[in-house]
Amino acid sequence: MQTNIPLVGNFKVTCEYGRKNSKNLTWIAGYHTGIDLVGDDQIYATCNGKVTRIGRNDKDYGNFIVIQDTENGKYHWFCHLSSIGVTLNQKVSRVSKIALMGATGNVTGKHLHYEIRNASNKYADNINPAEYMGIENKVGSYHSDDYQLEKKYEIGRYKVNTDILTVRRTPEILDHNWLKYSELTQNAQEQVAKLNPSKPNGLVRGVICDISEIKGVWGKCPSGWISLEYCIK
Ligand SMILES: [Zn+2]
Repeated sequence: MQTNIPLVGNFKVTCEYGRKNSKNLTWIAGYHTGIDLVGDDQIYATCNGKVTRIGRNDKDYGNFIVIQDTENGKYHWFCHLSSIGVTLNQKVSRVSKIALMGATGNVTGKHLHYEIRNASNKYADNINPAEYMGIENKVGSYHSDDYQLEKKYEIGRYKVNTDILTVRRTPEILDHNWLKYSELTQNAQEQVAKLNPSKPNGLVRGVICDISEIKGVWGKCPSGWISLEYCIK
């Protein structure tokens, strides 16, 4: 069972994403750039990615971890941690335990500040993390079981629904499994070249893939293995 939520079990949203500055709460951006969650201490990664930054004793974020999503380049920030369970450059997936919730940095109590930044990784360049998690962007109680990712992929035709989707030799997330452009089948090369003259080592948005075999979220197409999480049927 996997979700896009960093906590498992019952949890609460204590401050929603986008809340505007008030007398009691102010942010430099003028609004809350992440979402505040309270629940079980154990924190999980929320994407297939790599740890790109670990911060300690930051005056605002306290102890924090930044994980870059391997497929779309966005950065997931996990802040105010009591302890950090990953190392720099470590590969993680949604089942990876990465940290414990804490109250480090600028906080009034123990919680997880979870924020998703776009590829610039700059403060205030972010997306709505509630939407990513699949929950309402609203103070309230939730349970992770209610937001399981749909895993029942079926063999058939899929369309790539992200800018660049890497093709791998085996159904894994490791970088060295990536196929180079020259290693793609001729048909895939033609599709890629037509849609993106710069020829990246992956399939670009809109390419149609015939999936003949499925292992978890991975689908086997004529070129190799791709993550069906970034495709639409
Ligand atoms: Zn927050």
